[in-house]
Amino acid sequence: MHYKTISSKQTKKLAGLLAAEILKSRLKQKNALVLALSGDLGAGKTTFVQGFLRGLSIKQKITSPTFVLIKSYKLRIKSHYKNVYHIDCYRIKKAEELLELNLKEIIKKSQNIVLIEWPERVKKVLPKNTIWLKFKHGEKENIREILFN
Ligand code: ADP
Ligand code: MG
Repeated sequence: MHYKTISSKQTKKLAGLLAAEILKSRLKQKNALVLALSGDLGAGKTTFVQGFLRGLSIKQKITSPTFVLIKSYKLRIKSHYKNVYHIDCYRIKKAEELLELNLKEIIKKSQNIVLIEWPERVKKVLPKNTIWLKFKHGEKENIREILFN
């Protein structure tokens, strides 16, 4: 699928709708639901996560985990999913560094939703059923293209 948004608000809305769909659908999988968000700096990955977490009724302020690498949120809605992890691999050089962050453990549990920015850097540890989203700058300042499989 290929979407074009014309504002950060619209990107957040799209993400919120996707989050709602994910909650409704009963994806039967053994591991966590992983969304890999790839794209350049400023392409809208963190903005998308903000909308996605709002869509999951998470009320806290959602800031980029660029420096802390990982942020976790508890899901307080009735769902099979219990936790959401927002991970930013921008500063990661080797997948091994994420082992220290327990990424493997986090990915194993089917109650977890994991959103990862700069996922190419840890591709080795991502499950096969990872949903890949690609973010691109559009032809004008506030346009972004979002593609997913
Ligand atoms: P990334 O995490 O990919 O580096 P961010 O989401 O942090 O990107 O930043 C995207 C920036 O682009 C924000 O300042 C946001 O307000 C702006 N922006 C402008 N138009 C859009 C759009 N259509 N979708 C998402 N962000 C947009
Ligand atoms: Mg970001």
